[in-house]
Amino acid sequence: MFIIGSHLSTAKGFYNMGKTALEMGGNTFQFFTRNPRGGAAKAIDPEDARKLNELRIEHNFGPLLAHAPYTLNPASAKDNVREFAKMAMEDDLKRMEFFPGSLYNFHPGSHVGLGVDEGIKEIIKLLNEIMTEDQSTIVLLEAMSGKGTEIGRNFEELKQILDGVKLQEKIGVCIDTCHLWEAGYDIKDDLDGVLEEFDKVVGIEKIKAVHLNDSKNPIGAHKDRHEKIGEGHLGEETFRKIINHPSLKDLGFYLETPNEIEGYAKKIALLKTLRD
Ligand code: FE
Ligand code: FE
Ligand code: ZN
Repeated sequence: MFIIGSHLSTAKGFYNMGKTALEMGGNTFQFFTRNPRGGAAKAIDPEDARKLNELRIEHNFGPLLAHAPYTLNPASAKDNVREFAKMAMEDDLKRMEFFPGSLYNFHPGSHVGLGVDEGIKEIIKLLNEIMTEDQSTIVLLEAMSGKGTEIGRNFEELKQILDGVKLQEKIGVCIDTCHLWEAGYDIKDDLDGVLEEFDKVVGIEKIKAVHLNDSKNPIGAHKDRHEKIGEGHLGEETFRKIINHPSLKDLGFYLETPNEIEGYAKKIALLKTLRD
């Protein structure tokens, strides 16, 4: 099954997102758990959640992907910043149980001068404090482009974080095609080589989701500028290889650019033509 969807706005509720995903030709979607730039969360209406869950079963949805807000920084040297990240993520994980069996993706954070190793220690500590045996959600570290002091800019850093997490079966990685490329991984001309390296360093089974974005920049730019599928430096052919790769094809693919329904629907239709 080709699991495909895009990022959607939570403004009209969860059932509405499910309907929209279907109308766009998708069978899953991604959403922000709370205001991406602020951090405030709207209460989830249990009836709205129930209706979405019914729809998910009826239409055989792939796993929903929740995205933590960008403002969270679990790697910060500042106590209050880390405290906020912890509070928000802990609360997000509780709320995710309205949608059992989902994925929860977050940016590992920026060490802002603290140093990578110290930042990683803080991330691990936070994860071990908030993750629980009975959560049904799998938490995902997003692979980052390496902008500024971002942690998670290479496979070794992701591995270092993963190794510190106690609940191994509840943690994984979300790769982002734009981020990998801008981090310096040549997924355009050597996708097999990059995935082999991931397997060697981290273990291929740890990849649980894929963000599909093209990039406005050449390889290794470390700028994190998404482009619409096929319209950037990666190009359509790269996405054909990615969505059909034996190690990736059964995972969920989530589009994050262009950011409006009609554009997403067109790209989903395009990707379906590229799928074997
Ligand atoms: Fe992200
Ligand atoms: Fe992403
Ligand atoms: Zn990005």
